[in-house]
Amino acid sequence: MTVDGKRTITLLPGDGIGPEVTDVTVRCIEALEVPIAWETHLIGASAVDPHGTTLPEVVLDSIRANRVALKGPTGTPLGGGHVSVNVGLRRALSLFANLRPMRNIPGVKTRYQDVDLYIVRENTEGLYSGIEHLIVPGVVESIRIVTEDASLRIADFAFRFARFRKRRKVTAVHKANILKLSDGLFLECCRKVAKDFPEIEYEEIIVDNMCMQLVTDPTRYDILVSENLFGDILSDLCAGLVGGLGFAPGGNIGTDVAVWETVHGSAPDIAGQNLANPISSVLAGVMLLRYIEQGAAADRLKAAVFAVLARGETLTRDMGGAAGTTDVRDALLREIERTPVPAAG
Ligand code: NAD
Repeated sequence: MTVDGKRTITLLPGDGIGPEVTDVTVRCIEALEVPIAWETHLIGASAVDPHGTTLPEVVLDSIRANRVALKGPTGTPLGGGHVSVNVGLRRALSLFANLRPMRNIPGVKTRYQDVDLYIVRENTEGLYSGIEHLIVPGVVESIRIVTEDASLRIADFAFRFARFRKRRKVTAVHKANILKLSDGLFLECCRKVAKDFPEIEYEEIIVDNMCMQLVTDPTRYDILVSENLFGDILSDLCAGLVGGLGFAPGGNIGTDVAVWETVHGSAPDIAGQNLANPISSVLAGVMLLRYIEQGAAADRLKAAVFAVLARGETLTRDMGGAAGTTDVRDALLREIERTPVPAAG
């Protein structure tokens, strides 16, 4: 939606460290003078008092109208309580693909260099369907849904993305040796789609072996496609390879709607203490800017992140420094001011 020449984007600060890290992203995008009007809504625990729910209908309406959102993480109670806001949001808006780049950033010390891979995670089914039954006391059943439609759709997304970005290989991650029917179907769908992309190498790997291979040599992988739970677990593993959760952004993408957010959660242990690393949220902002075709602003923001990290002076605690979230914000804003605006045309 565009009003007065500005594109309206839904802003969902979320819970825990969400408001702190999304504020940094918004301030940086404002400093870049991208014509955006933010439409802010409460989501998660903060929405319960005013709306009586963690995922108010007004949030869904806003994203449906604006087609794009920046979201902070939201907390989900363990064992009981409300269902995950993320699962609800992804299902309600058919955000079927979770795209998570995992790349080394110059200046961020990690065990490996040259990690440059994407995780493409099916976002709507698997064990996240949340279908559980108490059969008799002491016995619980959880149902893992895998459908042909969703598997073909996510495989197609992974291969199209590989072609678009001129990547060389797609690796399907599965457990079809045990989950013969469900992951058997998932693999069948991946193989079928792979035939339409002969220029892209296709391989399959069992998820436990995948974990071992990734911590041994992550540079061998390019695009990983998997069902929901494996994709989630691999995301945190890969975030660890590129410096930690503070560096991993992602997008939940549907046919013509996208919600950009961090891989990390609401980090209640450090919330409200000015300790959160805002970089993953800012990198989610970079992805958002590319999605809305603000490529020059995305490049400037990414360059500012890389420059601040390479200088190594303003690092939050998770990066081995003592800077606060707001110090990183200020360093990014100074860097944005310093970087030239590209000439038009
Ligand atoms: P988490 O990602 O919130 O935190 C894991 C660890 O990483 C914690 O020690 C935390 O302090 C640290 N950490 C995370 N982000 C950081 C940052 N930006 N800077 C510095 N340190 C950071 O995972 P968790 O503790 O398992 O989950 C907490 C809550 O978040 C749960 O309710 C969970 O359901 C939710 N969650 C939400 C999302 C989402 O909204 N997309 C994703 C994952 C988890």
